[in-house]
Amino acid sequence: MALRNKSVSILGAGISGLTSAIAMARLGSNVTIFEGAKKNLNTGAGIQISPNGFGVMSALGLKEALASKGSVLEYINVQNYKKPSFSARVDLRNVTHGNVHPHMAIHRFDLTNILMKTAMKLGVKILFNKQATDITNASESVKIKFSDETFHECQILVGADGIHSLTRKFIGCDEKPKFTGKVAWRALIESKFIPLNDIPNEATIRFGPNRHIVTYPIRDGKLINLVAVEKREEWTAEGWDLPDNRANLEKSFQHWPTTVRKLLSVAENIKLWGLFVHELPHKWHSDLAVLIGDACHPMVPFLGQGANMAIEDAWVLAEELDNSNNVLDAFKRFQARRYRRITKVASASSSNGDIYHAVGVRANLINIGMKASYRLKPSFIQSKYDWLYGVDVSRGD
Ligand SMILES: Cc1cc2nc3c(=O)[nH]c(=O)nc-3n(C[C@H](O)[C@H](O)[C@H](O)COP(=O)(O)OP(=O)(O)OC[C@H]3O[C@@H](n4cnc5c(N)ncnc54)[C@H](O)[C@@H]3O)c2cc1C
Repeated sequence: MALRNKSVSILGAGISGLTSAIAMARLGSNVTIFEGAKKNLNTGAGIQISPNGFGVMSALGLKEALASKGSVLEYINVQNYKKPSFSARVDLRNVTHGNVHPHMAIHRFDLTNILMKTAMKLGVKILFNKQATDITNASESVKIKFSDETFHECQILVGADGIHSLTRKFIGCDEKPKFTGKVAWRALIESKFIPLNDIPNEATIRFGPNRHIVTYPIRDGKLINLVAVEKREEWTAEGWDLPDNRANLEKSFQHWPTTVRKLLSVAENIKLWGLFVHELPHKWHSDLAVLIGDACHPMVPFLGQGANMAIEDAWVLAEELDNSNNVLDAFKRFQARRYRRITKVASASSSNGDIYHAVGVRANLINIGMKASYRLKPSFIQSKYDWLYGVDVSRGD
């Protein structure tokens, strides 16, 4: 069932929906994306595209476009919040995993803009203000109802509609996302205010009891992306993310060193996210609809892989649809190729959160262990994520 001239409908114009549209349009299919928002709202803050995601982007012809907007990260530093020296430092230029693609940091708006323009150039139709309110089975098709009372019927539906996915409900997964007990503030900081030595192309993870902070530069170092995570008993807000006062962020890190507090004091456009996940479904598809990205497998962001996994999904799904005899076979093969990797990445992301937030003796032991292995056997830290970054699904891995 080659994708050429096949019609594909995608719900959601986030990173997974757009990447999927590009991958399928390049194979000759006619793609329409239905997006509930009025325009590209993926303004967010920064995002990291690691070599495994970048490999796909490169195979989709987006290498130069991304290079023109993103910054190649050279190191990832891991640091105890009280100590001036790094506990460990990974040299991203000197990789051991054999994947030549860079580790890039980019503004989300820039990334989605590149994806959107590329998709449109390939003939993808992107319809905004199309909020799906119901999805049902019709005879040999899937019928989507939108809030403007219009309908659309399709033979292939890709549910790229994020963590609160309606497509997920349609394929029979009805459980609500669960609060992970962690919240994340996201903010941008103008580099000119930065009192820290962070402006080189390095990501730094500072960890302390029940909280951690990640910083890295975007837009040629003019902005610093900040993600600050705190452990919290419950999430009581109505929505999943909301604007927050800087005072709340500062209060959470009030016992951290002055340098960090100075950084927080100049953070702008602060948003607070409740971090939610849900169980990985046993079945990721019905006969004619399939889930990708956060609609299928939302994960905590402590390994920076949610979008990278969505990008990998997009490539594998397009390849399987192009190579399989029928749609259902393609969906089954897609899930089979992705299941173990997604499970492993989600679990590693969650473990990172536990490590960063350790308290008391455990925290000290983790820090000592990290320092010792970094100093005595740097290759261990250097190659710890080879299984993750070394994979490039676009070359058949
Ligand atoms: C603090 C934080 C930091 C992160 N950092 C990274 C990182 O560095 N690297 C990384 O790889 N990942 C990171 N992630 C994860 C990443 O943001 C997500 O995994 C990724 O954005 C998921 O993309 P998606 O397209 O699947 O879903 P979404 O981005 O949620 O897109 C879903 C789209 O579907 C639309 N939609 C939803 N419902 C409907 C409907 N009913 N009708 C029509 N349209 C609908 C939405 O409007 C939206 O545009 C981070 C996440 C957080 C919270």
